[in-house]
Amino acid sequence: MSNYYLITFADFSEILKTLIREKIVDKVISGEGKRNRFQISPLLESDPKKLEEFPLSSLFIYNFDRINSASKFLHKKAGGALTEKIAMIGHPADARALIELGKRLQVELNNVFVIVLENIGTIQANDVINLLKEEGIDPESVEDDFLTDEEYQIKLKDGTIKKYPLGKKIDITDNDKRADIKKLDQNFDLGITWITLEPFSHELILRIGSEKAKDLFSKLTIKKVEVNTKKLDVLLKKQSEIMEKARIQKEKDISEYLSRPDRINELAKCTMCGVCINACPVCFCTDCILQKQRKEKNIDNLTYQMTRVAHIGDSCVNCGKCDINCPTHLPLSLYFYSVTTKIKNEFKYETGMKKKEPIPRSWTALERGTT
Ligand code: SF4
Ligand code: SF4
Repeated sequence: MSNYYLITFADFSEILKTLIREKIVDKVISGEGKRNRFQISPLLESDPKKLEEFPLSSLFIYNFDRINSASKFLHKKAGGALTEKIAMIGHPADARALIELGKRLQVELNNVFVIVLENIGTIQANDVINLLKEEGIDPESVEDDFLTDEEYQIKLKDGTIKKYPLGKKIDITDNDKRADIKKLDQNFDLGITWITLEPFSHELILRIGSEKAKDLFSKLTIKKVEVNTKKLDVLLKKQSEIMEKARIQKEKDISEYLSRPDRINELAKCTMCGVCINACPVCFCTDCILQKQRKEKNIDNLTYQMTRVAHIGDSCVNCGKCDINCPTHLPLSLYFYSVTTKIKNEFKYETGMKKKEPIPRSWTALERGTT
């Protein structure tokens, strides 16, 4: 029996509703678009009836708006699932952030049902709004959207389909381009993707990743169609291609970044606005010393950045929320990626991957090999 099934968007809503009805979770982190379909914010939902309209394609393509992310929301607004069981639908970086937060006792991993969007990456909602403005398209007239590794597509309410090649007016975020872990092999319950499927078909490929998910699947009343070998081969080949491209991009970006002599001085352009701290899913201190010193004006911007690297250099999961939101456009995720890559090479520790693997900074000298 394969672990891959062909389902529809409607089946996905049924899965979420069943999670609550069967009391596998108490709440689901859902989303709502207050102004339009492109800019969605997370919210906690416990009523299965309200999960009918889950904004799946928006979450796939744009992620939660601005500094919001599923993992940050789970930690900050859903109590880290310490006392309630929560379903989180997020990107691979969210699943990896949970692992780092779990190790630091901020999240109870056993209480989280993790659904990972194993897709291409994300584009920025603001770029789409600007593109529509330029094209004279009313955002309200967009009925549906789709993203492949080559183009962004929208379907208007009158049935017109518009296609925009990636790389010109619109593109996948820089951190997503170098995220070579878009598909997780552990620490998820369900994976969903629309890679290789027909645009606007509202079909998905569902991957079952845990015993908990198998149990849920047995309780579902949806049609259970296994993905045939040919279709699965096409998907796996495409996913490997996407990850290989990301790996090459990552190596290129990091090597270019590390060869730039001005890279540390560039960080001095930081205005200490605090947005990157507020956006970061793995920044968890309740009383942030940096925020305090910033308000008291007794810290300089380089020390501010160096303290950030000391705090989260071994837990950054390359979600990109910091540089996407930085008003000074500093290449923050690249800077942190260069640090986590160094840690990976030196200590064989990859952030967000193994639940039980201790964090290198907590190793004894013997474990570190420095005695
Ligand atoms: S978001 Fe940018 S400018 Fe603001 S504190 Fe972070 S690095 Fe500095
Ligand atoms: S430092 Fe930036 S890229 Fe890394 S986890 Fe925090 S917000 Fe995401």
